[in-house]
Amino acid sequence: MILACLDLEGVLVPEIWIAFAEKTGIEKLRLTTRDIPDYDELMKGRLKILDENNLKLDDIQEVIRGISPLEGAREFLDWLRTEYQAIILSDTFYEFAGPLMAQLGYPTLFCNFLEVGKNGAIKNYRLRQSDGKTKAVRAFKNLNFKTVAAGDSYNDTGMLQEADDGIFFRPPESIVEEFPQFQVTRTFPELREAFLNSKKTILA
Ligand SMILES: [Mg+2]
Repeated sequence: MILACLDLEGVLVPEIWIAFAEKTGIEKLRLTTRDIPDYDELMKGRLKILDENNLKLDDIQEVIRGISPLEGAREFLDWLRTEYQAIILSDTFYEFAGPLMAQLGYPTLFCNFLEVGKNGAIKNYRLRQSDGKTKAVRAFKNLNFKTVAAGDSYNDTGMLQEADDGIFFRPPESIVEEFPQFQVTRTFPELREAFLNSKKTILA
């Protein structure tokens, strides 16, 4: 059995912070790991903006409850789980992910936690560990699993490199140039094909 490690935002669901930026009209909240590769810098910036605008966890959760998975994502994931054991490795937070996991059929999710104050304000964020995606794939390797990883952004390149095979899904052009070793897919049928080919190659 081979493990499929999937990124969440940009692969199965829209970018949560972009949806929140659109809802609030705060342009600076549109920045993602695609724009700022340093995750700590990105998150500290986001938390500062939330604080300045008196926005609470509830405000973000309300927007998330209105988000649906990307078109075709649920069907893709259901199919993937017939070929692989799928695990979602995400830099998002359990406090955000609930409504989206329900719509995806509650797949296994490894992500991070928020520190929320009594007034509902997000005080800080807590990574279970730094570079968790890469370390998860490395740990699976130590358990003698083969893995194929797919993601769309800078924060996925570590796990894509660590996996037996790595696949980009709808990546920005700049990343494609920087990491030419990974297959590039842009639709769910293409992603499906790539996972099938990876499996064949690994099992050959
Ligand atoms: Mg992503």
